[in-house]
Amino acid sequence: MKTIEVHTGRPYDILMERGILSRAGDFIRPLTGAIRAVIVSDSHVAPLYADQVAASLRQNGFETSLFVFEAGEASKRLATIERLYLHLFEHDITRTDLIVALGGGVTGDMAGFAAASYLRGIDFVQIPTSLLAQVDSSVGGKTGVDLPGGKNLVGAFWQPVRVLIDPDTLQTLPKTFFRDGLGEVVKYGCIRSRKLFERLEQEDAAEVIEDVIFECVSIKRDVVERDERDTGERAILNFGHTLGHALEKLGGYTELTHGEAVAAGAAILTRLTEHKGLTEEGTSARLEALLEKYGLPTGSRYPLTEILSATRGDKKSTGKSLNFVFLRNIGECYTQKVPTDGLVEFFG
Ligand code: MG
Repeated sequence: MKTIEVHTGRPYDILMERGILSRAGDFIRPLTGAIRAVIVSDSHVAPLYADQVAASLRQNGFETSLFVFEAGEASKRLATIERLYLHLFEHDITRTDLIVALGGGVTGDMAGFAAASYLRGIDFVQIPTSLLAQVDSSVGGKTGVDLPGGKNLVGAFWQPVRVLIDPDTLQTLPKTFFRDGLGEVVKYGCIRSRKLFERLEQEDAAEVIEDVIFECVSIKRDVVERDERDTGERAILNFGHTLGHALEKLGGYTELTHGEAVAAGAAILTRLTEHKGLTEEGTSARLEALLEKYGLPTGSRYPLTEILSATRGDKKSTGKSLNFVFLRNIGECYTQKVPTDGLVEFFG
C-alpha cells in the first residue's frame, strides 16, 4: 500500500492500493466513532461499487444508506444538495456520523460540500473512482456546486478525513474518462515534474498508472500544503485552465470533457507564450506531441479572439486582470497577470 500524508489544517492520509475499495470499512473505522455512514454516488458508479463499499462498512459496524443521483455535471447543483440534505435528515445523521463520496469529481465535490455544510460540518471520506478524481479533485479540499452562470461558484474548503484510491476502478471506465484524467496528468508534468513528463513520453501511462497517480497526488499535496486556501502558489494548478474553461464554455460543456479542454488550453497557451519568447523554444512542440500520443486535443475550432473573450467571468480573475500560468520550460512554470482589457494585444 502507498500512503501520502497531507498536512493541511486538518491533516489526513491518502491510501492507494488495488482492491482497497472492497475493504474500505477497515480503513475508515479507525478514524471515526460514527454509527451511520451515507454513501453518495451517481447512477453510473453506484451499480458497480456501492454494494462492496456498503458491505465493508457494515462489517465494521456502520449502519449504511445510499444516496444516488443522476450521473453528469448537470446534477452538480444546489437542487441535488437539497435532496441530499433531506436524505441526511431522514436517516438521522448526526454531527459525529459520516459521508462517503464514491465516484468521480462531481460526486466528490457535492458530497464534500454537503459534508462541509450539513450541521455546520461532518466528516467525509473520498473514494475517487475516475482518474481525474484520483489525481486531482479528491485531493485538496475544494468542494462545491455549479450555478447557472458558471462552474464551482458556490462551495467551501473542507478536507476529507481520508482518501482511498483503488486503481482497479479505472479498468471499468470508458476510454474517454481515462483520457479526461490524462489531461490533468500531463498538466502536472508541465508545471512541476520534467521526470513525469518524460515518463509519459517514453512509456504508456495506462501501464504505469499507479506510479503516475502517486506522482500527481504528491505534486498536488505539496502545492496544497503550502497554499490550502488558494491565495498564492495553488494558482499554478490552473495551468491550461483559463483558456480551458473558456473552451468548455464555448462548447456548451458538452463538446469537450474538462481534461480535454485543459489539454487544448495548455497547448494553445504554450504556443502563444513560446511565440512571445516567454517559453523555451521547442516546449510547445513537445507538449503537443505528448497530448497527441494520448489522443488529447491541441487546438480549437474557435478563433483565438473568441476564446479570449470567453475568459471573461473566469473565477481566477482579480479586479481588472487575469492570472495566467505560463511554462518557462517542461517542468517549470510561473504566474503572470494580464490585464483583462489587453488580452488580445498581449497574445495577438
Ligand atoms: Mg481541473
